[in-house]
Amino acid sequence: MIETQSLSKHYGSLTAVDDLSFSVGSGEVLGFLGPNGAGKSTTMKMIAGFLTPTSGTASVCGYDVVDDALKAKQCTGYLPEGAPAYAEMTPKQFLNFVADVRGLQGDLRRQRLSEVHERLHLGKVWDRPIETLSKGFKRRVGLAQAILHDPKVLILDEPTDGLDPNQKHEVRSLISDMSQDKIIIVSTHILEEVHAVCNRAIIIAAGRILADDTPRALEARSRYHNAVRLRVAEQDKVAERLKALTEVASVEQDEDGALVALPANNSLPYPAIAALIAEKGWQVDELAVESGRLDEVFRTITNVAGSRT
Ligand code: ADP
Repeated sequence: MIETQSLSKHYGSLTAVDDLSFSVGSGEVLGFLGPNGAGKSTTMKMIAGFLTPTSGTASVCGYDVVDDALKAKQCTGYLPEGAPAYAEMTPKQFLNFVADVRGLQGDLRRQRLSEVHERLHLGKVWDRPIETLSKGFKRRVGLAQAILHDPKVLILDEPTDGLDPNQKHEVRSLISDMSQDKIIIVSTHILEEVHAVCNRAIIIAAGRILADDTPRALEARSRYHNAVRLRVAEQDKVAERLKALTEVASVEQDEDGALVALPANNSLPYPAIAALIAEKGWQVDELAVESGRLDEVFRTITNVAGSRT
């Protein structure tokens, strides 16, 4: 449904996107992760047909974004970074304008406008100038324009950036809701977002793909994968005992004071630690196995690649 082959973009001597090849199929919500300046927006703009690649190709629903630009755009909804819209228009005027541009007419037009009005809960603000709306509502208007023509593919550039936690939650729910019948690429530098909405993640830095996996598999690369977190009285004494276990590589203290026992060579320290707790009769206030830390994986992967200067 979305395919890129050796997609590249140069700005003068800067290579913003460097030979990216990947494909995204139905049922996938792909998180596009990377530090600022990694090339996420540039890649998305090329797939959305807003920027011409320097070399390589991209296609959407089988249509090349350059050679078959109109057909590719008909299949694509795009929310640019910051979700710009005509500030002096109301959502009603703006979405009617977008409907004109998209060539929507008659019953289909009425039905689509009513659908986005409902789905994005725009009733309260339908006739208010966009410039007077909260960031959350502005973002909803942006999403409404992206899905107005009911595209198969949605490209969302930092859709939750700058929103408060409630608004972020709301936009993530909307994305999950839309993923039922659409292929979605969503860029973010917020790692929790990947868990919340994506079933696949591509990490890019300096314009190149460094990892392409499920969020769970990426977490499993973390040295905290299967680590055991525990809170006990007499932490120092317990830490010494844990360090002596063959399944434990090292013991750290978390920022909030809990002990974290890291696994030695892919081992599972939990059974040995649970047995030790039972044997010693330690009073444990908290005990949990970690799935891994995506932020640590992200830092490791992107630091190895080095940052762009
Ligand atoms: P991201 O979305 O991951 O933050 P971008 O795709 O916006 O990254 O940018 C990738 C690189 O390309 C950055 O170094 C950025 O400064 C550069 N860049 C982006 N747009 C332009 C432009 N219009 N002209 C020159 N350089 C640009």
